[in-house]
Amino acid sequence: MIIDNEIKLDFKDVLIRPKRSNISSRSQVDLEREFKFKHGSSIIWKGVPIMISNMDTTGTFEMAEAVYKHKLFTCIHKHYLVFDWKKFYKGTLDKDIFNYIAISCGSKEEDIHKIRIIMNEIPDIKFICVDVANGYSEYFTSVIIKLRLEFPDKVIIAGNVVTREMTEELLIKGADIVKVGIGPGSVCTTRKQTGVGYPQLSAIIECADAAHGLNGHIIADGGCTNPGDFAKAFGGGADFVMSGGIFAGHDESGGELIEINGKKYKEFYGMSSKTAMDKHSGGVANYRSSEGKRVLLTYKGSVNDTILDILGGIRSSCSYVGAPFLKNLSKCTTFIRVSQQLNEVYGKS
Ligand code: 5GP
Repeated sequence: MIIDNEIKLDFKDVLIRPKRSNISSRSQVDLEREFKFKHGSSIIWKGVPIMISNMDTTGTFEMAEAVYKHKLFTCIHKHYLVFDWKKFYKGTLDKDIFNYIAISCGSKEEDIHKIRIIMNEIPDIKFICVDVANGYSEYFTSVIIKLRLEFPDKVIIAGNVVTREMTEELLIKGADIVKVGIGPGSVCTTRKQTGVGYPQLSAIIECADAAHGLNGHIIADGGCTNPGDFAKAFGGGADFVMSGGIFAGHDESGGELIEINGKKYKEFYGMSSKTAMDKHSGGVANYRSSEGKRVLLTYKGSVNDTILDILGGIRSSCSYVGAPFLKNLSKCTTFIRVSQQLNEVYGKS
């Protein structure tokens, strides 16, 4: 047994120090980034590098259409059928949206077989998100190797991991972008059920450093509770930031709309929750426990206002530290460790 005594940080442990800046208005800040990828090298991506989680309560086609207007990216959840994808493709006149969506799968052969069929029907799909709760198994790496051979021109997203050595391993074996985060999610109970995890800001800083040395990219996945957390994730070196909870509860989100005593709520649950397993896998298998929970969120209407709020917050962060482009935010960031973030004398909102 080994104890690592180095302090690891979460978003709540730091603030970003303001710096002199020659940006006179946050409207001058450009949040778009352009990326070339390590393996899927002919693809150049330009947009706002915020991703919607591939959960069936957030990564919907309706969400993709709404966030595409702001050039955000959606990882479409894996439970759509071939038929649903064909219908979406047929009904979408502006095929540029395929630069802003990924098809998702797990590591099981049946999942991969399904994306093979869908991608055969829709060659416009350029991004594949291979998502498992634990990206550390040798089997998972072998799946990434196989997918890279089968889809040499696509951008492969793989995860989740939280440490530098596994980030490097996945990039070397064929991933372009590594998804980083174990346990920080708003409806995740992995840390409670297993005791496993890694403070998210440190995971981002360490995995970004490992990835960038190999011309790879990372997604900071999970744990953002407000626009400031997105800014901290980018400041820590994340190329993309993914969120579920912030995009849940809207018209475009999945999950049932429920009315209780005249007030509207939307259902949101983890993809390893009992609710999700009952829905998609015929219940929780005897050998495992659920690692996610279900919550009811106050219904928030259209996702548009939420997007503007996040983008406005990040633009402001950039202007506080003198970063005219999102690309500069990381090098303009100095984190200070704090013991208190917010004044909550009038509540938490
Ligand atoms: P959030 O942005 O809501 O804090 O976190 C979203 C992320 O939580 C997702 O992108 C995914 O990585 C993770 N996640 C989603 N469902 C579950 C679950 O049931 N269990 C765990 N451990 N993580 C989940």
